[in-house]
Amino acid sequence: MNETLGKITCPICGESADLRRCGRGARTWYWVCQCGKITPNLAGGQAWIMEHGRIFGREPPDPDDPAKDPVEDEQVPKGGWLDW
Ligand SMILES: [Zn+2]
Repeated sequence: MNETLGKITCPICGESADLRRCGRGARTWYWVCQCGKITPNLAGGQAWIMEHGRIFGREPPDPDDPAKDPVEDEQVPKGGWLDW
């Protein structure tokens, strides 16, 4: 049994489903609900999960995950952007 890492609303039954990942190696996300275990294992389906899922704590603890959010918090300089 894999750890539940987030929640996603199942587009089939509309229930809030547990979002999990397949074991290490395969990084495929899937969800489990009354429809069963749903694994949209190609890139399009995985992207859909990332778009619609709510991952606990933003990212699961997986330091070598290449799918890190590239958006960093920008440092606002002292006095703000307009202070020049
Ligand atoms: Zn469902």
